[in-house]
Amino acid sequence: MENDTIPVNQVQGTYEGTARDGAVFEGGLVRRIVLPLPFPQVQHVNVYVLGRDSFILVDTGTSSQDSYDMLLEGLRAGGVRHLDAIYLTHGHIDHFGAADRLVKDGVADKVYVHERELGNLGNAYDELLYGSQLKRYGLPDSVLEMMKYASQFFDSFAQRPDIVSFIGPGMSVRYDGGSLEVIHTPGHTAGSVCLYDREKNFMLSGDTLLSRLSPNPLLELYQNGDRRKSLVEYMDSIFMLYNMDLRAVYPGHYEIIHDHRPHIKSLFNFHYKRMMRIHNILKQSPMTPYGIMGDLFKKLHRRDMFLAVSEVIGHLDLLERHDMVRSFEREGLLYYSAS
Ligand SMILES: [Zn+2]
Ligand SMILES: [Zn+2]
Repeated sequence: MENDTIPVNQVQGTYEGTARDGAVFEGGLVRRIVLPLPFPQVQHVNVYVLGRDSFILVDTGTSSQDSYDMLLEGLRAGGVRHLDAIYLTHGHIDHFGAADRLVKDGVADKVYVHERELGNLGNAYDELLYGSQLKRYGLPDSVLEMMKYASQFFDSFAQRPDIVSFIGPGMSVRYDGGSLEVIHTPGHTAGSVCLYDREKNFMLSGDTLLSRLSPNPLLELYQNGDRRKSLVEYMDSIFMLYNMDLRAVYPGHYEIIHDHRPHIKSLFNFHYKRMMRIHNILKQSPMTPYGIMGDLFKKLHRRDMFLAVSEVIGHLDLLERHDMVRSFEREGLLYYSAS
């Protein structure tokens, strides 16, 4: 299966957005600024300025100097001198990295995020917590070491905002030109939100819906030993979005989605196929999640290990939900078998 060389379902082709495109939508109410990213998997992030005379910003890009300069340039080009508030779709560095700097530089007044993202805004990768669990999944020490360095690399592109305020379901965000309902869409992260202008029928989707990628439902572990079922949550979230009537979806990466239903159908298909593929692998013999990763992703790059383990655990959760697998421990390792 061609998609299984990498853990993300990436559509071929290049994306030509730049910060200088100054693309405006919704009769000038929504301005997109495209900022550069230092990752090989995804090279740009979209942030959106909303308003006519006063403005809010949805997501910020990273805190790197080139991204920050391009953001300020994009704001200036749109006649934006000040931001009443920044709203974060979720706590990944490409979306929140510059928030603290914007506040400290006096460009923005406040930062809002869902409270379940607080963990992600800090150093999300707790070495002790993740190390012991990932070991149970069968990941060798050399891979864990690599993940630690990768997380330190990522953390260098963001500053945790000192003060944040919370947004949650049922709340609405007013901007100069309309209002946005906060829709909690857990999956990609626990506190991912989409912002929905019901009157104008458009939505800002962060990483919950992306035109060219299947957003990874990331593994998140908690101090109390819990683990959220990321992909199960994600499927429920996109099912909810499927039932909404949306004219335009403005995503955190790549181009606007005008046909969200076929798009969501293809995501369901993609995950169903991957789930059945893992089920077939487990019919041969019981395996650890790491063993499944090796079988599923033929040319897995070390930098993609965390995405890959998140994908596999997510699909095992889905299989468990359908009573298609069972798990057991052997010599400190977690195995799954087809039932
Ligand atoms: Zn993300
Ligand atoms: Zn992103």
